[in-house]
Amino acid sequence: ISTFPDPDGASPAMAQWFALKARQPDALLFFRMGDFYELFFADAQAAAAALDIALTARGTHSGAPIPMCGVPVAAAQAYLARLIRRGFRVAIAEQTEAPRKPGSPNKGPLSRDIVRLVTAGTLTEDELLDAGRSNLLLAIARLPGARPRDPDRLGAAWIDVSTGLFETATLAGPHVLAELLSRLDPAEILAPAGLSLGEHEAARGPEPGPHAPLAARAKLAQPFEAASLDAFGDFSDAEAVAGLVVLDYVRDSQAGKLPRLSHPVPQGDRLLLGIDPATRGSLELLRSRDGSTEHTLFGTISRTVTAPGSRMLAGWLSAPLATAAPIGARQDAWQFLQAESGPVAQLRQILRGTPDIARALGRLSVGRGQPRDLAAIRDGLAAAHETATLLAPDRPGAPFAAPLPLLLESARQTLGRAAGLETLLRRALSDSLPARLEDGGAIAEGFDGELDAERRLRDDSRKVIAGKQLDYAQQFGVASLKIKHHAQLGYVIEAPVGTAAALRSNPALVLRQGTASVSRFTTAELSELDRRISEAGSRAARRERVVFDALVSQVLATEALPAIAEALALLDVAQSCASLAADGRWCRPEIRDDATFRLTALRHPVVEAALSRTERFTPNDCDLSEGRRVMLLTGPNMAGKSTFLRQAALAVVLAQAGLPVPAERAEIGLVDRLFSRVGASDDLARGRSTFMVEMTETASILNLAGPRSLVVVDEIGRGTSTLDGLAIAWAVLESLHGAQRCRTIFATHFHELGELADTLPGLCPHTMSVREWKNQVVFRHEVLPGVAGRSWGVHVAKLAGVPEPVVRRAGRLLSALEKSRGETAARLPLFAALEKEEGAGDPFREAMAAIDPDRMSPREALDALYQLRAIF
Ligand code: ADP
Repeated sequence: ISTFPDPDGASPAMAQWFALKARQPDALLFFRMGDFYELFFADAQAAAAALDIALTARGTHSGAPIPMCGVPVAAAQAYLARLIRRGFRVAIAEQTEAPRKPGSPNKGPLSRDIVRLVTAGTLTEDELLDAGRSNLLLAIARLPGARPRDPDRLGAAWIDVSTGLFETATLAGPHVLAELLSRLDPAEILAPAGLSLGEHEAARGPEPGPHAPLAARAKLAQPFEAASLDAFGDFSDAEAVAGLVVLDYVRDSQAGKLPRLSHPVPQGDRLLLGIDPATRGSLELLRSRDGSTEHTLFGTISRTVTAPGSRMLAGWLSAPLATAAPIGARQDAWQFLQAESGPVAQLRQILRGTPDIARALGRLSVGRGQPRDLAAIRDGLAAAHETATLLAPDRPGAPFAAPLPLLLESARQTLGRAAGLETLLRRALSDSLPARLEDGGAIAEGFDGELDAERRLRDDSRKVIAGKQLDYAQQFGVASLKIKHHAQLGYVIEAPVGTAAALRSNPALVLRQGTASVSRFTTAELSELDRRISEAGSRAARRERVVFDALVSQVLATEALPAIAEALALLDVAQSCASLAADGRWCRPEIRDDATFRLTALRHPVVEAALSRTERFTPNDCDLSEGRRVMLLTGPNMAGKSTFLRQAALAVVLAQAGLPVPAERAEIGLVDRLFSRVGASDDLARGRSTFMVEMTETASILNLAGPRSLVVVDEIGRGTSTLDGLAIAWAVLESLHGAQRCRTIFATHFHELGELADTLPGLCPHTMSVREWKNQVVFRHEVLPGVAGRSWGVHVAKLAGVPEPVVRRAGRLLSALEKSRGETAARLPLFAALEKEEGAGDPFREAMAAIDPDRMSPREALDALYQLRAIF
């Protein structure tokens, strides 16, 4: 947004515009003028370009025309959506006094005020939101380290205004920040200047002063009516400050009114599976690399039937757990439903079409609720109560057998609450609801005596008027005369022009308007009736607003509602898992507290789903138990290596999210951090070569992985010359085996690395089976023990359509090369080279060098001793 002119000498309306604009200089100002929001100066230019609407001019300022564009209020949502998507923020200035009657003594423009700041992270409207995803506003706060060598302390807090979620976390270091950003995928970020956020953009948040933590703790507790923040858990200083930043921003965006939020929940003791951004990108959990949601893990496994269920499942998938008990609770829930397929169909039927209670609540709490939002609460509660009954195990003929697993039982108890509110709303809301409260008729007849009386007054007068038409026709001798309601004139007598001459001279009639075809008159009696109707009408409207607001207050005071919304979402996720697992091809993994990793007939759900009808996915086993902890995987391109690697990583994500795993059997020892580097992720845009990216990522694995981690890596050392690459791959493999000691699948083109199996006891070479058939290569996608016997690059080149002469020539060159290599060195060149070096090449010495006694447990030391003994 470019600069704006000096406000001196502005007309009164423009002076008001300048004053409001000065309060929100970074936002486009939607300035309400009648039925339009108008934009001026650079705002108009930016919006006209972004929305592709006409840029015109209105009046002049300092002698130059003022650029202007406008959007109709009635269609504002669609325009807002486009502006927000393009990264704009919009301040909405409404008229805060009613339009004046002509002749009113007050002069000057109507008063206006900014009633709301619309930003990507503070939306509540369905039209502007993705129903199946949460919409997070994230604030990061940085407290300066106390001493020069103290690291800065980072805190984060995030709010979903549309559902009221409010969570915080302390960030132990930059890699945790990166993980958090990729996990939350926020719609809007506030961060201190100079903080590195990778590809994410952020607006500048406030810099906390020395007393900020203390003040934040006090102010953060206030809206939740707690004496102290400690009531909600253990918050670090940085977390509390971030919490206040995000809360203040939300409050400002709603013009000082805080939406209904749950109290802040610190995420400190919730142990999650560590997934860094590169891994998340590579696994395409919620979003594929091209940004779409097709061909993602979420898209493949979701059988949810409601938007809140879909949001919850997405939340589980993006934040798998790292402790066994809560995982087990989730598994129990869906496994129980899986066993009861009949009633589950019933459950699904109820859930389908259940409204989004959480988002309706969000809108109601910021005063943007409409009749349909109250209806959503009513219908949501009806569904909740119906499910509670369905789940009740102790009534006769109950479809579900007692006892319900923990999560379902607590959901059932929650779902039965707030019955009074449902009854109230059922009585209060009329059967056919208007889209907007102003349209009238939202509240049912018989609910509020005062409202009924006003409406009766209005309707009786209307009836009187309807009866008058015949009277007037006779009285004035014009049979074609009609009484009509006219937007500006109210009730009028309308007569065709041809018959009007006689009427015009009648003293009882006052001409109000004449057009080419009709003349419109009124009488003293008609004016009086019209006044009564319009007064009763506005009294009815006012009363309806009062009744509506009282209902909204009741809804907002019903504390059980957010929990009910959550319980419905949980049931949806549980039934989704149960349906997924219903075909028997998905299993409940056994989660263990050790380093087991044993999967039988594992599949890649997304690749499998993408195969055509004639193709079959080949399941593979994967066993990384002690003694075979590091799997070396060789095989040509296209043989299925990446698929195999990814499916192992996905199995961990699914298992630890508490979801079914696409395998016959799965035993997984809890993974603390997951690393997946599969497929090139070029980062040329940031000016780093592929090789540099690869090495940075390798470095981060070697620095962060530990004995409880799972690492799947593809082709380390591919981005450099063969010998360089081989040397690096070798060293990394040795380190993963001996230093990090993590469960590893290591795919490589360097078949030579297979020979390391002789010296690394936990290394277990495997290869993708490939057959040659009639001079064609056939991929069987089967993982077998052993090392690839030969390269099939030339065959793959042929498959890809490289011209025949080039393929033939490459084939001849290959055999020549293989032959000459066989003559010069019986062994891998690098082995030979190393052996020539003094002292090197001795596997025993190498294994010794890889040992770091300071980082070993007694048990590991004993293992290492056995390994050394085996090599010796
Ligand atoms: P690589 O990493 O070895 O180059 P990919 O894992 O990318 O190979 O697999 C190439 C293609 O082979 C995939 O797109 C998929 O269509 C198919 N494929 C891979 N694994 C399997 C499998 N287990 N069963 C059936 N088809 C598979």
